[in-house]
Amino acid sequence: MAASSLFSAAVRRLEGKVAIITGGASGIGECTARIFTRHGAKVVIADIQDDLAKSVCNDIGPESASFVHCDVTKEGDVKNVVDTTVSKFGKLDIMFNNAGIGGVAKPDILDNDISEFEQVLRVNVAGVFLGTKHAARVMKPVRRGSIINTASICSVTGGVAPHAYTSSKHGVLGLTRNAAVELGQYGIRVNCVSPYLVPTPLAKNFFKMDDEECLNMYKNLKGANLEPVDVAASALFLASDESKYVSGHSLIIDGGFTITNCGFS
Ligand code: NAD
Repeated sequence: MAASSLFSAAVRRLEGKVAIITGGASGIGECTARIFTRHGAKVVIADIQDDLAKSVCNDIGPESASFVHCDVTKEGDVKNVVDTTVSKFGKLDIMFNNAGIGGVAKPDILDNDISEFEQVLRVNVAGVFLGTKHAARVMKPVRRGSIINTASICSVTGGVAPHAYTSSKHGVLGLTRNAAVELGQYGIRVNCVSPYLVPTPLAKNFFKMDDEECLNMYKNLKGANLEPVDVAASALFLASDESKYVSGHSLIIDGGFTITNCGFS
C-alpha cells in the first residue's frame, strides 16, 4: 500500500483518539495532522506559526483540528496546550513531540556559537522533554497513552549534520528510551520516528537551498526520497493500537541508508 493511500483509507485507525502534534503547522507535523484526522482522531496543533497553523486547521476542518499557540521551550505553553486539550476533549491519547529546528549549518566547530547550539537543544530536546512530562502527567492516571518523538537518522549517525543538530537528536533517542522504561509501568508507550532527509522548510533552510536545488539534491540521494507522508505513516502506526506492544523503539525511515552508507552521493 502506498503511504499516500492513507489519506483515503477506509479503516479509521485512530477513531475516537485525541492527539497533540507539536510543530503541526508545517512539514511532517502538518502531514501527520491531516492523516491522523483522516483516521478519526481529534488533533490539536501546537506551534509558534499561528497564521499557518490556523489555516491548516481550517483546511482540515475545525471539527477535527484546532490550534493552540505553544512554544515548546516554554513549560507554561506546553502545560497549557495539554490542559486545554484535556478540558476540550476529556483526554489525551497521543502526544507527537515533533517540533524542531535545524539550526545554522556551519561545518567548522570553531565558527559555532554556544547560543545557537543551546537554542537547537532547547527546541529539539527540552521541547520533547516538556511534551513528554506534561503528556505523562495526564496519561499516568488513566494508565494509557502513546508518546511519539521525532528524532532523525542523526540520532544514530555522526557527520551527517552539524554538532548541535546531531547532539539534539541523540538526546531525543536517549529521552525516548528513558521515558519508555519509566512510563511503561503506567501503560504509556514511548517511541520515536527517525527519518532521513525530507523536503520541508526545515531542510531547505538548513541547506540554504531554493525549491529546485532542494529537489535536485533529493533526486541524488542514496537510499530514499522521503516525503512527509512516509514519516506520518510511521507515526500513525506508533499512535494506533496496532503497535500496542511497541515501546522504546526508534523507527528509522531511511530506505536502509544508515546501515549502508552515511554520506551523500
Ligand atoms: P518544518 O520546518 O516544516 O516544521 C517544523 C515545525 O516546528 C514548524 O511548523 C515550526 O513552526 C515548528 N516549531 C519550531 N520551533 C518551535 C517551537 N519552539 N515551538 C513550537 N513549534 C516550533 O520541518 P520538518 O522537517 O517537518 O520538522 C519536523 C521534525 O522533523 C523536526 O523535529 C525535525 O528535526 C525532524 N526531522 C526533519 C527531517 C527533514 O529532513 N526535514 C529529517 C529528520 C528529522
